[in-house]
Amino acid sequence: MGNSMAHPLYVGLDVGGTSMKGGVVDDTGKSLGSVSLPTEAHRGQEFGLARMCETIRHAVAAADVTMKDIAAIGVATPGTMDIPAGIILDPPNLKPWRDVPVRDHIEKVFKLPTAFQNDANAAAYGEFWAGAGKSVDSMVFFTLGTGIGAGIIIGDMILEGKHSHGGELGHMKIEVTNGRQCGCGHFGCLEAYASATSVVKRTMERLAQTKAKSPLREHAKKEGGLTSRDIFEVAAAGDALAEKIVDETAFYLAVGAANAMHTIDPEMIAFGGGMTGAGGPFLDLIKKHIKKLALPVPAEKTIVSFASLGSDAGYIGAAACGRQLAMRRKKNKE
Ligand SMILES: [Zn+2]
Repeated sequence: MGNSMAHPLYVGLDVGGTSMKGGVVDDTGKSLGSVSLPTEAHRGQEFGLARMCETIRHAVAAADVTMKDIAAIGVATPGTMDIPAGIILDPPNLKPWRDVPVRDHIEKVFKLPTAFQNDANAAAYGEFWAGAGKSVDSMVFFTLGTGIGAGIIIGDMILEGKHSHGGELGHMKIEVTNGRQCGCGHFGCLEAYASATSVVKRTMERLAQTKAKSPLREHAKKEGGLTSRDIFEVAAAGDALAEKIVDETAFYLAVGAANAMHTIDPEMIAFGGGMTGAGGPFLDLIKKHIKKLALPVPAEKTIVSFASLGSDAGYIGAAACGRQLAMRRKKNKE
């Protein structure tokens, strides 16, 4: 090793509410190794910044390279944030952090070009660079978890927006009359209907409306609750109520996808996150609803797909942002 000019490597760090994942990737987006450490946000932001540096060092060790091999670093965090300033502002998932100067701190510690990005944008860029969107030139990405994160990539550009709120498609309004309340406090957002959390909520409400026997009710009683995975499994086994919930979820996601298609007209719409574990039949349902909701040309031509990098998308995308920054700086020097 030590030949960083010929074969530059990049570190990506994906900071989440519970854990942070760091990894080293090569110039093609291939991961050479990764590690995951608990975030422990409650211990405060000084600790958090130190934990980020620690995770970066562990990732470099896990990849069996040294810091000298690294050409740039990328860090992705949940919002709220100011992307150009490199600061996390007031993140609900990282309480009690406030106004944390992530980018400048990492850049100072490692003395390497450091990029800063929103976590969903980074995951989208990871999939675009090295995953499901590798061969397309524009992509809209939705990640389905506790909430719905999203990112828009157009020709290698991440749509960050003027106020670091670009691509917040989880909060597009899909219901304007008596909309369900979203984690953001507003009503009628896509996230309030189709996140994993919302799928469970909608199911529990439906169960409460009837006394009918249901494998979902039995499962909830036995396990003390339901997960979206349980609901998809029961649906796959042919339970009518669970099937209805899954079909409605596919419909809501198709509404979100169609709105994105009519705004951006991307080459690909991709879905990632835990819920895509439901597999091909769920994707087919989403596609079926998109065909009915979208205008004829995008309905026919847009590629609709599941993501392929799983939980690696975030750090790979963050590393890609570091790579993009390093290349831009190099170009400016030439
Ligand atoms: Zn919302």
